Amino acid sequence: MEEKSVFEMILNKEIESEIIYEDDDIFSIQDINPVARIHLLIIPKKRINTINNLSDEDTLLVGKMIQVAKDLAKKYEIDQSGYRLIFNTNDDGGQTVYHIHLHLIGGEKLKAF
Ligand code: AMP
Repeated sequence: MEEKSVFEMILNKEIESEIIYEDDDIFSIQDINPVARIHLLIIPKKRINTINNLSDEDTLLVGKMIQVAKDLAKKYEIDQSGYRLIFNTNDDGGQTVYHIHLHLIGGEKLKAF
């Protein structure tokens, strides 16, 4: 069987982390290594290794992840100043945890790319 992802371990309370948002399908935590003042991860409870592994049945789930990100941006008061949403995918994309997650980054002026 595939090894558990760090996010599955957090969800199972095998690794300590404060869960800042949770519903039936999605949870959110603060990134342990933030790249900006606000850096949250929005994570589906269902393990999907990469964006390449999404199937048609995941469409609603991914839409919900973006909705949760939007709500958290408002909660953390960065909705008006602005923020960035990122899915890193595979090695060149900088993915290190193979359980899809949406980075919500903001709270300061981010470098353009
Ligand atoms: P990525 O590089 O896109 O796969 O993002 C994985 C993210 O998970 C990185 O930004 C890490 O800092 C973050 N991360 C890894 N382990 C933990 C943890 N235990 N708690 C919170 N964030 C973590």
